[in-house]
Amino acid sequence: MDDMIIKKDKLPKWSSELSDYKIFAPHREDDVVIFKEMKNVNKVVLHYANSVMPPKEIFFPQTQELFKYEKSPEMKVSEAELPLEKVLLFGVRPCDARSFLIMDKLFYWDYEDHLYKQARDNTVIIGLTCTSPHHNCFCTSVGGKPYSNEGLDVLMTDLGDRYYVEVLTEKGEDVIRKPDELFSKPTDKDRKERGEIWEKAESEVTKNVEVEGVHDKLGELFESKYWDEKSRTCVGCGICSFLCPTCHCFDITDEDCGNCGRRIRTWDTCMIPEYTVHASGYNPRPGKKNRLKNRVFHKFRYFPDRFDAIACVGCGRCISKCPVGIDIVETLEEVKEVEEVEE
Ligand code: SF4
Ligand code: SF4
Repeated sequence: MDDMIIKKDKLPKWSSELSDYKIFAPHREDDVVIFKEMKNVNKVVLHYANSVMPPKEIFFPQTQELFKYEKSPEMKVSEAELPLEKVLLFGVRPCDARSFLIMDKLFYWDYEDHLYKQARDNTVIIGLTCTSPHHNCFCTSVGGKPYSNEGLDVLMTDLGDRYYVEVLTEKGEDVIRKPDELFSKPTDKDRKERGEIWEKAESEVTKNVEVEGVHDKLGELFESKYWDEKSRTCVGCGICSFLCPTCHCFDITDEDCGNCGRRIRTWDTCMIPEYTVHASGYNPRPGKKNRLKNRVFHKFRYFPDRFDAIACVGCGRCISKCPVGIDIVETLEEVKEVEEVEE
């Protein structure tokens, strides 16, 4: 489908044409931006650096039922209900859209996770170019751009009183309703303006790190004392992984209520000691140095080894929200400089 333009004052009309979708969009609440179900298009926030929580919950909820059971009058197991409704995820930043492709690698790996897949298949993702990247963003260092269209069905760019709309997939075409009434063709001026906005946005991503070589260098630093020093101030809160769009660890627990019960999976984090405790009580990652090291290794060595992709999209959330200021870009720079290596 050709590119299009939609005037901002036509957004309410466009959204009303999409009533067959449950729409999730960014909203401001208590001074933070979060994705939640849209009830009123006028409450949607489209000028923001990024949401405090990534929208990964749409596909990978914090707590999700896998199955439930009843024990009497006879044992009966019921599969979890599939998420069947059509969802439109609106206003996603390009880094977060790229994170979905990273999550796909895990959830479609040795076992295709049907709950995750159903939610992915049912969702159309409309992205929004970052026009003012946050000072902690470093997407350009890990293969992204403020205007990347990877993982998106539609990419919109704010041109002031209108949006430039790039339709990328068939799913994206399905949400372009009433094209003759709501949308118009872009002019050369629109295209030029979009190019200038993209260029300016890219130049404003000032935090960066050369990740080339980090993978191999990490291989030499597994036993390095560097991790003792780096993790000294970490309080093990897990914020860095709970807010990370690519972190995907979960725990599985059974909730038994006598005659019935259910099995659920819940987000977990490798930054807390209990995550790796064995049934015997032995913990292979007993100290915070082991856990912080694992997080860095997982993103920049283990995941690339297994899936040929870095498990970081440079969203900067872990940097902005770490209560003690541990900065993954700084960590990677330091890793490259550490001189003490294993024999
Ligand atoms: S590691 Fe940090 S910067 Fe990278 S994707 Fe996760 S939260 Fe964002
Ligand atoms: S957010 Fe900072 S303090 Fe909390 S677990 Fe992560 S590195 Fe440690």
